[in-house]
Amino acid sequence: MNEETLRSRYWNLDQCTIPVGKVTILTDFCKGGDDCDDCIRFCPEHVLERGTEKNERGFYPPVLVEDAKCTVCGRCQLYCSENAIFVNKVGERMVSDDEVVPREEK
Ligand code: SF4
Ligand code: SF4
Repeated sequence: MNEETLRSRYWNLDQCTIPVGKVTILTDFCKGGDDCDDCIRFCPEHVLERGTEKNERGFYPPVLVEDAKCTVCGRCQLYCSENAIFVNKVGERMVSDDEVVPREEK
């Protein structure tokens, strides 16, 4: 089965949407850096990276990666022990063709 057939069998890309999230970081609550970075580590979309500016506690809060796409999975919020990061759904977008990975034929 070729890739085009697989795709049409499992996906109708004209009807696939995915949530779009807005990430809010309360920088002075954060203990990011070597002591944490959990939100960075657990984000499946690689939306976050360690920042370079210290907060008032002496830690390095994460910053958003340019052009990264938050899907509102909520993991960053779930794993943050400091309640320093929140995510809200602000809309939906169509799934692009290159985000679909066809299954391997068995
Ligand atoms: S999980 Fe929370 S405390 Fe840790 S780096 Fe992320 S925002 Fe900061
Ligand atoms: S909600 Fe999910 S995709 Fe969005 S930044 Fe947090 S961990 Fe990443």
